[in-house]
Amino acid sequence: MSGFIKKKKYGQNFLTSDRIPARIAAESGITSECGVIEIGPGLGVLTKQLLAVAKKVVAIEIDTELIPILTEKFADEENFRLINEDVLNVDLDKLIAEHFPDMPVCVCANLPYYITTPILMKLLEGKHGFITITVMVQKEVAQRLCSKCGDSEYGAITASVNYYASVKRLFPVKAGSFSPPPKVDSAVIRFDLYDTPPVAPVDENTFFAVIRAAFAQRRKTLLNALCTAFSDRLSRDELAAIITEAGLTQDVRGEKTDNKTLCFISDKIFFNINGGNQK
Ligand code: SAM
Repeated sequence: MSGFIKKKKYGQNFLTSDRIPARIAAESGITSECGVIEIGPGLGVLTKQLLAVAKKVVAIEIDTELIPILTEKFADEENFRLINEDVLNVDLDKLIAEHFPDMPVCVCANLPYYITTPILMKLLEGKHGFITITVMVQKEVAQRLCSKCGDSEYGAITASVNYYASVKRLFPVKAGSFSPPPKVDSAVIRFDLYDTPPVAPVDENTFFAVIRAAFAQRRKTLLNALCTAFSDRLSRDELAAIITEAGLTQDVRGEKTDNKTLCFISDKIFFNINGGNQK
């Protein structure tokens, strides 16, 4: 371990004690039946705790220099595998089929903050059947992801993750718990993924286009936002009628609109554009 110099470019702020990793593992919902994918094991502080609670851990680490360190540290652990790869390039379905063919799978990570959103969206959009995803993120990101519709922090990312999972803030973590300390405090959050999502749009692409439109410009009305996004396919009058049908007023703002209503709107838009049976 001596001689390893932490790399800022990989977001290497390592947890310095066992206390926080142990709490992350304890509150992650991971059981002795579970396989775990850990993203960014670093020097292995969280890995050690995950190995204590899970059946098997597969860790994905981008930094080649950490591979011999981790290999040596966990040499005696039969249920540990290490993949030297950028997580964004890993085929997770293949990994799951290879390493966890008959296990429920969870994800756990102290995330590299520079790619928090792409990692989370890859994990959620991929529909890999994860039971839980427990991650350390920046405090502000945690606030945003755990906010409720109508809160000032609620945005497109919140609406998107809420489609896949319920999100809960587990506990805060001070910057001083890391080496080197990041510029911001952090928090651990947990996603419990839905077997059946609470809203079921007929077309996910339209649903996410409606979410993007609704939150793109906060001061715009939902009607104006939808006009900008769909003006090539629907008239203003058609969109206004859909908003009325959804039980909303014409001056409602997108940011105040929950997923159930956005789903209703997206289905109407989809059927207006494509024809077919309406709900
Ligand atoms: N788990 C360790 C801990 O809690 O102390 C390290 C966490 S550190 C915040 C983030 C880790 O993710 C680092 O080990 C870093 O090298 C790794 N990492 C950064 N980018 C990555 C990527 N694209 N794919 C896989 N690992 C990555």
